[in-house]
Amino acid sequence: MKLQKALTRYFTLLVLPSALVVGVFLRFAPPQHNPFMPLDLNNRPGLASHFKMTQLERHPAACFDALDSSGVLYTVLDDSPRGAACGLYDALTLDRSLTPYSATLSMTCSQTASLYMWERHVARPAAVEIFGSPLARIETYGSFSCRNIAGTARKSEHAGANAVDISGFRLANGRLINVKTHWDKGGPEDRFLKRVHKGACRIFSVTLGPDYNAAHADHFHFDMGDARTCE
Ligand SMILES: [Zn+2]
Repeated sequence: MKLQKALTRYFTLLVLPSALVVGVFLRFAPPQHNPFMPLDLNNRPGLASHFKMTQLERHPAACFDALDSSGVLYTVLDDSPRGAACGLYDALTLDRSLTPYSATLSMTCSQTASLYMWERHVARPAAVEIFGSPLARIETYGSFSCRNIAGTARKSEHAGANAVDISGFRLANGRLINVKTHWDKGGPEDRFLKRVHKGACRIFSVTLGPDYNAAHADHFHFDMGDARTCE
């Protein structure tokens, strides 16, 4: 009897109010904070965005739909045979995003969706806000590369086209912002680089830059692998 009374009390005082708060939050929260709403790449990143980005890997049809809804143009690549050393699965070649890239990028769909989100909500607004000039081009060292992580025997996320390396940014007014030249050097370029690096951490699973190690002194590495790192 005592136990039943305690359980009723626990339910009334703790479980019920908590469930009510969560219910009200999910009902009125913007979709980017609600894990049950489908991902819209045009919504600013929110509390549930990274979780939803990671789910795209398991739901390729939803991933390609999200790209289509955002106007991203791409060419689908054939899946590699299972067990291939550096297999491409649910991958594409990016034909057009909001900003041109300096090299052709072949990436998984979920990596492309994350890159689009970062470009749309982080890099492009930061360029206009800090320099008053839109981004004209993003400099990249590329995505797909059948190799191990530098100095290790572990396969890189690049080997599955699930990563991209970004080395710099060209603005419409001609200004060039370079990771190697401007990181930690102060001034607006450094502020811009810190902003786009920090913003990437909310979207990608792994964000690495010059503070991580010497191998990343001249670029940012973004990937949607299983690890979770922001350095
Ligand atoms: Zn990389």
